[in-house]
Amino acid sequence: MPALFKNFVTYIKNLINGEEYISDRTKLTYTMATLSFVHVLIAIFFAFWGNTWLILYNIASFFLYQWLMDMAKKKHYVVVTILACIEIVIFVLITSFTIGTIMRFNLYCLALVPGIFYITSTIKDFKGKTLFPFLFSIVSMLTFVTSLLFELFREPLFVIEPSVGTQLIEIFNVIIVYVMMIIFSLLFTWEMKNNSAALEKRNQQLQQFANRDPLTKLPNRRSMMQVLNVSMHELQRDNAPFSVILGDIDDFKKVNDNYGHDAGDKVLVMVANTITSQLRDCDSVCRWGGEEILIIIKGDLEASRNIAERIRLNISSSKVEHNNQTLRVTMTFGVAQAKAGDRIEHLIQQADNRLYYGKGHGKNQVVSQNMP
Ligand code: GH3
Ligand code: MG
Ligand code: MG
Repeated sequence: MPALFKNFVTYIKNLINGEEYISDRTKLTYTMATLSFVHVLIAIFFAFWGNTWLILYNIASFFLYQWLMDMAKKKHYVVVTILACIEIVIFVLITSFTIGTIMRFNLYCLALVPGIFYITSTIKDFKGKTLFPFLFSIVSMLTFVTSLLFELFREPLFVIEPSVGTQLIEIFNVIIVYVMMIIFSLLFTWEMKNNSAALEKRNQQLQQFANRDPLTKLPNRRSMMQVLNVSMHELQRDNAPFSVILGDIDDFKKVNDNYGHDAGDKVLVMVANTITSQLRDCDSVCRWGGEEILIIIKGDLEASRNIAERIRLNISSSKVEHNNQTLRVTMTFGVAQAKAGDRIEHLIQQADNRLYYGKGHGKNQVVSQNMP
């Protein structure tokens, strides 16, 4: 029992935190189970007054809700909801017609409103049918008003004298209706809150997805442009120097041709990891193009040249195992320092020219000067 209670508390806690969610199936099955149980209690109440018709009606309702529970388990959500709504309306009309409003069974109409809005707005099968809860709420209101008009204009079929018993049942009905309204409203609020939290998380994931290269997990060119713009801004405002290193894997086409595309992919991942491990937090790296990597270093040309040299050595000494073969690659780098007022395109072009020079002069080197 304590374990069960603990599980229940954890479930409620998770529900509030949005770590747990109530499935449509659970939602309707439990609602039907509750209604089924409530009808049993009501049948017992009427047994005290010996009202056979109402006892029979409530027993029939008990079986109806047992069947609706089964239908909910089979995911016939729309049918289940409509039938339950109709039953509640009929229940209120029948009790008002037979015994009047003395024990306030007509209050059950009220719980219909938050219930129907909660169920139709959270169960996918109802999406787009916004008129439905609204219409049923109007029907609920008309039913309630009808029950009061019955009271006003005609004697009930069976007159029950007010007593402690009727008073207690009235209190029972008020409590049940309030509990239902509170539960539906709470669940509605939680689900809306959790839905928007989930949406927020999904948005962040999508954002990350849009900004990252799926193979190497490095930021892509587009997100690097933002970093470049910010760095340029900081250079102009605070005189904070920065440089770019453009690196390109040497003879990468041969890796693909000789060992296959998968081997090429492994090499790219190794290159990305090696470079990332060599950088400080303030520096950034992205996959600029196919096998081109762009690094932004918060520092001047000399410092950036040293970092590029260190990366070059690290790459050339790294190995990639593929199908029992050991692959090695080298990289050529072009380094350029940004000048205040420089255009980003010009800065990248300068690094690219130096890289191009390195490619034409033996590869596997760092070029940080303009060459003739
Ligand atoms: P160089 O030393 O002049 O840079 O020669 P290279 O062979 O590296 O240059 P080239 O530009 O001719 O070839 C680049 C190759 O990179 C061609 C392309 O198929 C390959 N590549 C680009 N993106 C990927 C990728 O995501 N995975 C793999 N496996 N290969 C890629
Ligand atoms: Mg290359
Ligand atoms: Mg290339």
